[in-house]
Amino acid sequence: MHDLIIVGAGLAGLTLARHMASAGADILVLEARARIGGRVLSHITPHGTYDLGPAWIWPAMQPSIAAAITTAGLAIDAQDDRGGFLFQDRTGAVQRLPHGFEQDPPSMRIAGGIGALVRHTANALPPGTIRLGHTITALTATPGGVTLDCMTEAGPARFSAARIALAMPPRLIAALGFTPALPAATRQHLAGIPTWMAGHAKALALYDDAFWRRTGLSGAAISHVGPLAELHDASLPGVTDEAAIFGFFAWPATMRANRRAQLPALVTAQLATLFGPAAATPRHLIIQDWAEETFTATQSDHTGPAQHPHYAPTPLPAPWHNIALPCGSESAPDFGGYLEGALVAAAAVADRFVPGASGQVQASASFL
Ligand SMILES: Cc1cc2nc3c(=O)[nH]c(=O)nc-3n(C[C@H](O)[C@H](O)[C@H](O)COP(=O)(O)OP(=O)(O)OC[C@H]3O[C@@H](n4cnc5c(N)ncnc54)[C@H](O)[C@@H]3O)c2cc1C
Repeated sequence: MHDLIIVGAGLAGLTLARHMASAGADILVLEARARIGGRVLSHITPHGTYDLGPAWIWPAMQPSIAAAITTAGLAIDAQDDRGGFLFQDRTGAVQRLPHGFEQDPPSMRIAGGIGALVRHTANALPPGTIRLGHTITALTATPGGVTLDCMTEAGPARFSAARIALAMPPRLIAALGFTPALPAATRQHLAGIPTWMAGHAKALALYDDAFWRRTGLSGAAISHVGPLAELHDASLPGVTDEAAIFGFFAWPATMRANRRAQLPALVTAQLATLFGPAAATPRHLIIQDWAEETFTATQSDHTGPAQHPHYAPTPLPAPWHNIALPCGSESAPDFGGYLEGALVAAAAVADRFVPGASGQVQASASFL
């Protein structure tokens, strides 16, 4: 019997694990995927690390991220959108504008990618804390806490803990089996909370060099025809023998799925239309479709919200309210949906378990 089992090794689950380990709790993290990070996913080449999930943070207005970056000793750089900007209208015609995205505060990137923050957080945990390939399917409230049923490659497994934290999207929580059952209204509420960016897909095109910069282009573009809608330079600072452009798809999940086989050709054709013939032959093209990821998106996420939803904590009713706490970014009181929200949610849940736990080690902290 563990003090706490955390379901999900995304940034929220790992951060909660770190707070609780520092507070002296006996914890276990169970993760369905064969990797940590959840929506944080890296593409690694001999030259560096590119983000296929989140890429940007805004430490000027996100205090938890700012603190986490400082603690981890990670360097950050502003997204470099300086230079000419391309606009592709509905007819496919491309216009060059003197400048494009200008953000205040600027979007910042972490050296080594967002994965560097995830790895730093995980590396601080006691060895053996994280078990990959453990998909939680059901929770049962017991007199001593909670029993978790999960599927592993080796077959079904069962774990027990005094408390659990569900560091995963609310829509995935709604799909778990609860005994006693969650009220239908609670399940509907959870199922109605969109998972931020879950219906999106990214294309990352790697080139030998940033040829677009030679003509004064920033690599940034907006397109009203697609398949990509918003593009940015994803090159790594200081790297001269590899460069990259990434783009978010405009096309919804169903349209992407229907044209899956043609997507690489369609993307490179669009890149060539925008940036010239050199863009037609990337060294490597990666398409990461989050809508196809079972441990991120549900069918409901295939049509994403038009705007950033208002997220709020999602407490479960009795008898679950004190033993099973939702803890993913979409359950954060502030910055829900963002990486900052993952840290905020983790801190809120840690402090609920052990007051002050997120402010770090308390020698005499008692778990619950
Ligand atoms: C394409 C894209 C771009 C984004 N861009 C940005 C950005 O630039 N800036 C920003 O701040 N945010 C961005 N986001 C959002 C950001 O990724 C999330 O806010 C953050 O990663 C959420 O972390 P989390 O730990 O709450 O959830 P997740 O990362 O989703 O982690 C949940 C974990 O739970 C696991 N899990 C799920 N079900 C089970 C189960 N049954 N059993 C066991 N484990 C399970 C999953 O495998 C996963 O590891 C982006 C997201 C995407 C997809």
